[in-house]
Amino acid sequence: AKEKEHINVAMIGHVDHGKSTLIGRLLYEAGEIPEHIIEKYRKEAQEKGKATFEFAWVMDRLKEERERGITIDVAHRKFKTQKYEITIVDCPGHRDFIKNMITGASQADAAILVVAADDGVQAQTKEHVFLSRTLGINQMIVAINKMDKVNYDQKRYEEVKEQVVKLLKMVGYKVDEIPFIPTSAYNGDNVLKKSDKTPWYNGPTIFEALDTLKPPEKPVDKPLRIPIQDVYSISGVGTVPVGRVETGVLKVGDKVIFEPPGVSGEVKSIEMHHEPIKEAYPGDNIGFNVRGVGKNDIRRGDVCGHPDNPPTVARDFTAQIIVLQHPTAITVGYTPVVHAHTAQVACKFVELLKKIDPRTGQVKEENPQFLKTGDAAVVKLEPTRPMVVEKVKEIPPLGRFAIRDMGMTVAAGMVLDVTPRK
Ligand code: GDP
Repeated sequence: AKEKEHINVAMIGHVDHGKSTLIGRLLYEAGEIPEHIIEKYRKEAQEKGKATFEFAWVMDRLKEERERGITIDVAHRKFKTQKYEITIVDCPGHRDFIKNMITGASQADAAILVVAADDGVQAQTKEHVFLSRTLGINQMIVAINKMDKVNYDQKRYEEVKEQVVKLLKMVGYKVDEIPFIPTSAYNGDNVLKKSDKTPWYNGPTIFEALDTLKPPEKPVDKPLRIPIQDVYSISGVGTVPVGRVETGVLKVGDKVIFEPPGVSGEVKSIEMHHEPIKEAYPGDNIGFNVRGVGKNDIRRGDVCGHPDNPPTVARDFTAQIIVLQHPTAITVGYTPVVHAHTAQVACKFVELLKKIDPRTGQVKEENPQFLKTGDAAVVKLEPTRPMVVEKVKEIPPLGRFAIRDMGMTVAAGMVLDVTPRK
């Protein structure tokens, strides 16, 4: 059988609205829980006289791992729909979600927004929706969850749906393209199968809605960009940089340049999954041998491109940021570490240009003196050493960044404009 196309989905929403339960339910319905484990738990449950044992097991298992601070084994967060292989990527709130999203470690192609029918839209619902928009998640599915808690009442569903519609419109989502689904993650209503408890609902189930998502586009027509993750020196082969092709196409025989160092060479071979290949496309994780480049000429954080359209080394760049958490305030002169693609470079805030309303994009204040948690702003940043970034409009994966300080992500941002270094 042909391999199914892959889609990354983030689960977002206010705490306790049912994100983990829905993940467990999706995995369970998709049959992703190994039979021997279900069997083991079936026995345990019978001994204890429990009823809904299989599903409860999934939940306990997910919770256990969460409490031990482990990111749930990726293998346990994959399942198949009719059309796709879906990976549930981290949720916001998980320690490294924003950083992983921005650095491309787990770029989500879509989000499932979970809103509890009894609680409606809450603070984190708003936060996550705004963040999803900033991080470039353009596709969304809305689960109005815990319908069992409101007796599957259509009126309450419509009320909460209206709240969510308002919120999504405000940040610029096209609500006509977004499925809203009344669910009970706990009981499994409208997750895999249509529920007989919501006869008034004619739309898709969660599984059906997942199959209407569009697969991520492969940006083959954009200039080549491969952020370097590692550089190896292999005897008999030579220098082998390793990284994921973000945009463009790399072919054996190509002349390439690495920025910021500005060294060039020729691609002698490309390897993926230990197999030689002739061409590499966006999404491919590759190692490639480059003649003319020494192991010590390049390093993690450099970016490979073609000489006729080389990666942009920034003298400074203008960016739109949101301050997610900062204990005091951000002022001119602040120099935290910017994580963009595989690069980590301390960058100095040289100008605070304007504070903006995150929802409307309207200017709230010109040249503010400081920025604090919750603020969105346009700022100018200056890398303390040479660094590649690109305009988010032109090359999105190289135009997003996280700002880290004191062991946390203090802000997320996207590059609006770059002043290239001469
Ligand atoms: P998260 O913080 O968003 O991951 O929320 P959880 O999945 O941990 O769920 C929070 C609580 O709500 C747990 O006690 C769940 O059992 C409960 N819960 C989740 N989904 C449903 C649902 O559809 N119906 C009901 N009645 N309870 C639910």
